[in-house]
Amino acid sequence: MIELRALRKVFGETVALEEIDLSVPAGEIHGIVGRSGAGKSTLIRCLTGLESPTSGTVSINGVDLTNQSGAGLREARRSIGMVFQHVNLLDSSTALKNVAHPLKIAGVPKAERLDKARELLEFVGLGDRVDNYPSQLSGGQKQRVGIARALAAEPKVLLCDEPTSALDSTTTDQILGLIRSLRDRLGITVLIITHEMSVIREICDSVTLLADGRVAKTGKLAEVIAEP
Ligand code: ADP
Ligand code: ADP
Repeated sequence: MIELRALRKVFGETVALEEIDLSVPAGEIHGIVGRSGAGKSTLIRCLTGLESPTSGTVSINGVDLTNQSGAGLREARRSIGMVFQHVNLLDSSTALKNVAHPLKIAGVPKAERLDKARELLEFVGLGDRVDNYPSQLSGGQKQRVGIARALAAEPKVLLCDEPTSALDSTTTDQILGLIRSLRDRLGITVLIITHEMSVIREICDSVTLLADGRVAKTGKLAEVIAEP
């Protein structure tokens, strides 16, 4: 589902990523872990097509992003949902309108997008919060809205960038449970970028350790991470 081959990204003198090979099968939850500066953000930006690699290939669902431009890239991007540490909801819009927003941009008729948004909010456990504004929601609830919004375009892959770093441990467990259920119930392939080893242990099937822009280790969770 996600395939990186000999990915390399250089900024001037700085080598941000070098010889990155990574293969995440459909329905797997894969963690990327590494210290600050290891290249995690650059990797995400290459995966979403925001950054073009210096060399190598990035394929999602069989589509090579490095070959795409314009319409092709936009189409490929639609198969990828993004979840961030800072959810960035529209403060002047309700949870329902926030989730419907990407569908509005995509030109989906109003009744249809609001129905879909309501369904997604129910899915993430916020069926009773559709009319609340972000200021009326807890951090965990806002992250649920963010996840519902990411699901609006029915992505096959969800990229989660530090999805729980702003949350306390109880809320973190709830959000990780929700992410796991996306895989279990919807078959979504998940890539989680995090600096928290506890998150990796809790939820990932497989993991890649990035260090200085290179893959230091990759494989099944138990092979890569010794038990605590
Ligand atoms: P991480 O997300 O793991 O903290 P980054 O991907 O942000 O790591 O950074 C990896 C390396 O690439 C760092 O040395 C960083 O300074 C460098 N880098 C990232 N983006 C840029 C950029 N736009 N211009 C120059 N250097 C960059
Ligand atoms: P709808 O047509 O779905 O009812 P509206 O155009 O009435 O949506 O917008 C609903 C709310 O969302 C409004 O409060 C509006 O300010 C806010 N909103 C819509 N689009 C944006 C945007 N791109 N940036 C910030 N706020 C937005």
